[in-house]
Amino acid sequence: MNLTTRLSAVKGVGDKTAEQFRLSGLHTVGDLIYFLPRKHEDFSSITPIADISPGKRTIRARCESITTKNVRRGMRLTTATLVDGTGKLQAVWFNQAYRTVQLKDSSQEFFFSGEFEFNYNKYQLTNPSAEKVSDMPVQTDRLLPVYRAVKGLKSQLVRKILAELRPLMSMLPDTLPESIVKSEKLLPLSDALLAIHFPKNTIDIEKARERLAFEELFELLLAAQLNKRANAGLTAEPIPFEQPTVKAFVSRLPFDLTPGQRQAAWDILQDLGRDMPMNRLLQGDVGAGKTVVAGIAARQAASHSFQTAILAPTEILAAQHARTLADLLEPLGVSVALLSGSVKAKARQPLLAELKDGKVDVLVGTHALLEAPVQFRQLGLVVIDEQHRFGVAQRQALLQKGKRMPHLLAMTATPIPRSLALTLYGELDVSIITTKPKNRKPIITKIVSPVSRKQLYSTIDVEIGKGRQAYVICRLIDDNPQNEAKSVQAEYKKLQNSVFGHRRIGLLHGRMKPSEKDEVMQKFKDSQYDILVSTTVVEVGVDVPNATVMLIEDAEQYGLSQLHQLRGRVGRSELQSFCYLLTSDTAKPSQRLREIEKSNDGFYLAEVDLKLRGPGEIYGRAQHGALNLQVATLGDTKLIARAQKAAQAFVSSGASLLQYKQLAAHVEKYQRLTTLN
Ligand code: ADP
Ligand code: MG
Repeated sequence: MNLTTRLSAVKGVGDKTAEQFRLSGLHTVGDLIYFLPRKHEDFSSITPIADISPGKRTIRARCESITTKNVRRGMRLTTATLVDGTGKLQAVWFNQAYRTVQLKDSSQEFFFSGEFEFNYNKYQLTNPSAEKVSDMPVQTDRLLPVYRAVKGLKSQLVRKILAELRPLMSMLPDTLPESIVKSEKLLPLSDALLAIHFPKNTIDIEKARERLAFEELFELLLAAQLNKRANAGLTAEPIPFEQPTVKAFVSRLPFDLTPGQRQAAWDILQDLGRDMPMNRLLQGDVGAGKTVVAGIAARQAASHSFQTAILAPTEILAAQHARTLADLLEPLGVSVALLSGSVKAKARQPLLAELKDGKVDVLVGTHALLEAPVQFRQLGLVVIDEQHRFGVAQRQALLQKGKRMPHLLAMTATPIPRSLALTLYGELDVSIITTKPKNRKPIITKIVSPVSRKQLYSTIDVEIGKGRQAYVICRLIDDNPQNEAKSVQAEYKKLQNSVFGHRRIGLLHGRMKPSEKDEVMQKFKDSQYDILVSTTVVEVGVDVPNATVMLIEDAEQYGLSQLHQLRGRVGRSELQSFCYLLTSDTAKPSQRLREIEKSNDGFYLAEVDLKLRGPGEIYGRAQHGALNLQVATLGDTKLIARAQKAAQAFVSSGASLLQYKQLAAHVEKYQRLTTLN
């Protein structure tokens, strides 16, 4: 048996168990060994029910009675009465109906561990874990690993099969170079895995976590170091800085650049002038004014006959950029064109021909830019807006269109917290616009419960009366019996037939044709609508400075960064703006909503988001499919610093990865994921 052995070949794994594992993404022995516990439950201190007080508590009890009922659509509440020799208490679970089966035998004793708290007018044990006392392994000193219940996978089953793999685990060779294990005083791999799956005490668990977290970070940072070295060898066409060109562009702007914009533009213009490809990330909170900085770079490129490609994630945003940049650049003789999915094949041919001839200086578009027929005469600069929306492959596809490596400017309003930037993009240069254009007032954000809806509408109507505009964001396009969230279709009708009958309302969603979307957006921008009822198609980048009200329906259903982005559609001028987060019920608002109500600072919110959700979730989807740190947290700056040093030392020692197969495979994967070009 080894790490690649199928789990179905392990003793105790029948067809049914193998299927369960497969559904959880666990196929091989190695998958299971590296399926690390989510936490360890400490059953060593048991509170008698008679003595219980609020807080995290463990009791040893039987379940006297248990029922599950539907409280509202999508919510099932399970309530149980638990008894020990000293008294009774109530426990509740949300959407864990399987507890009814698990606990139905009232003669079985369980350890229940959860928060004892005041909820729904009484003290209850909330969402406790439940472990059969008779299943508790004797040798564990009552410390029990708890695994993620992917697709209902039971921790107990994982523990049982892991026990079969114990001999293999204890013989596993180390995956890190021995010198590093020694100098960093880390646990050897096999000891760490044993300690984490079969814990003896909390100190061992900590040391095991440290070892495994170090390894994850070391792999990431080593990948970043190697990328950096590889990039240093690349060459690009230098695009020299010409002060008059830039000055002429800037002097035509209807505003002064902010100090942050000036600095970022300076950094970029310097980079462009080198014969090494620029690799810069421009971060700036929503509304900070990143587009115009990209415009400066494109202007500089065009003056040396280099073409610029600007990639945007949505049709709406691409169309907006093409317009904005055409306004800024065409009077200076720089031609701007739009290529999106909606540009018909017929119109496309002449456009592509002009592009190849170099008659188009700046091409803005969606992923339509990546297609093979899109060829440039001399691509010098690639700008990726909202870069977190794109994957590495897309970035590379665009960069490959240059004869030599083009310069790359990636822009994002979803800031990567420093710790993460260091880990992910060790090779990257970063410019940050920290200041917003002057005269901007902080957006006033309020959580609004449905009982105040009427009042809210009259507040909004007053704003509209002053000539301002409002967004109303709904989760769905059509009403859906499976989902209680509001839909744009229904909300559009409702508002038109009731409170806002006297206002002009637009409707926007992702199933509309690109030309229709563009028309609606343009009408909203031209103040021909007072209210735009929209799905999240306007989430990123959309810029209508006269809109000052953002109303988000079913706000609890959105993530933190999504809420921040949506809110960023307002507050784009010197006018006071408002963001209302409407919740669908009167329950206590989530921490997410309270955080967003409290802070306008995207950088702060990104750190909070990182804590609440973890990097795998945040950066996992679009960009880093495989970046899923299991153990390391990117808040652990000390460990990151240690791993960083070790990775640097490893690279400069010239040591080869060849003899460390697993390390090499992981590093190679990360290298592909985290490089910007
Ligand atoms: P983001 O950084 O979110 O992409 P945009 O580039 O869309 O922001 O700019 C937001 C708005 O602010 C636009 O209407 C833009 O014209 C305006 N703007 C940009 N820079 C300045 C500035 N220095 N002073 C005033 N307004 C500015
Ligand atoms: Mg933008």
